Amino acid sequence: MTKPIIITDPDTDRYHTFGYISWWQQETVRQATVLVVGAGALGNEVLKNLALMGIGQILIADFDTIEDSNLSRSVLFRATDRGKRKVDVAAERVKELNPDVRVKPWHGNINYEMGLGVFRHVDAIIGCLDNREARLSLNRFSWAVNRPWVDGAIQELMGIVRVFWPGQGACYECTLTDLDYQIINLRYSCPLLARQNILQGKVPTTPTSASIVAGFQTQEALKLIHGMEVQPGKAILINGLTNDIYTTEYPVKAGCMSHATLDPIVELPEATAESTTVAELLAIARDKLGAEAILEFDSELVLSMTCPECGTETAVFRRMARLYESDAQCPHCHNQMDMNLTHRITGHEPFLHYTLAQLDIPPLAIIRARNHQQSLYLELTGDCHTFLTFT
Ligand SMILES: [Zn+2]
Ligand SMILES: [Zn+2]
Repeated sequence: MTKPIIITDPDTDRYHTFGYISWWQQETVRQATVLVVGAGALGNEVLKNLALMGIGQILIADFDTIEDSNLSRSVLFRATDRGKRKVDVAAERVKELNPDVRVKPWHGNINYEMGLGVFRHVDAIIGCLDNREARLSLNRFSWAVNRPWVDGAIQELMGIVRVFWPGQGACYECTLTDLDYQIINLRYSCPLLARQNILQGKVPTTPTSASIVAGFQTQEALKLIHGMEVQPGKAILINGLTNDIYTTEYPVKAGCMSHATLDPIVELPEATAESTTVAELLAIARDKLGAEAILEFDSELVLSMTCPECGTETAVFRRMARLYESDAQCPHCHNQMDMNLTHRITGHEPFLHYTLAQLDIPPLAIIRARNHQQSLYLELTGDCHTFLTFT
């Protein structure tokens, strides 16, 4: 890769020094959209790097708030930020570092709350996560929409950096051991997922390992943005105690559950979660697949709950994964209520006039439509204009 070297004025161009790097394309960097999942120790360092390099659009996803214990590893946070959402503070500080960068903070849990289509519409995904559940989700999402992602993990003075690319080498799930699955299943053993309990067992980390690993992660994302070669399915292992850095290649696991890509994905530029009704989406499905087509969700939707003791019935319309155990308690007699679930729309539902948002479907969701022979995947692409806006 060669390009004419354009030497700008160091007095007025903050990216002056990058102009000397033969392959660096500042315009490509400026036009890139990067999703950073997690705004903790790694996320702070990654965001700092992305801002300094002049990445044009950054989507920051996290569901956490700032506490004092974050301050020892989070360059973007201050003591006065205690209690604020990590994404909001990080977005503000990124813009302070570089006003050229446009940011969108998104406060939520990517495991259940972000539309799958979001992952299709970014140039690079960087996972700055501290638990297996979220990594597994991110891995399955990236496979589903055929996008690479960069994982980072730290513990004390050690770190791992990995690029996973669907169809090229091992994926994150290929690397999981039986023990990893046991740890994940422990947390899912309750029928109503107790999200409060996810990762209470914290791993000790340092600002040095965070900056080292985040540095590698950002570089891998930079290579992805430039279309340069990366090494999917390989890990960079960094041992800060012995100063050993080496790479290792994971074997692809036969029958790995993550290896599923949605195909074909049909973009619906007019459809949005807020404005499109269930009936309208079903009509689109039937237009493409015939009158027997149905819609299928990837998780259970709780329509209502009924108390077996006192008969109290309440409408819910929330995905089960987003409910807490306390949500299933009868408000009158405090018994556990029975859930009326569905995950498919056949055209006979009394709520066909509801919008998709009223059925707890997030913006840019991808919903499966199928008949007896084939499936296709309908993306609420119309949400791009509102969801993927950066300021
Ligand atoms: Zn795999
Ligand atoms: Zn009751």
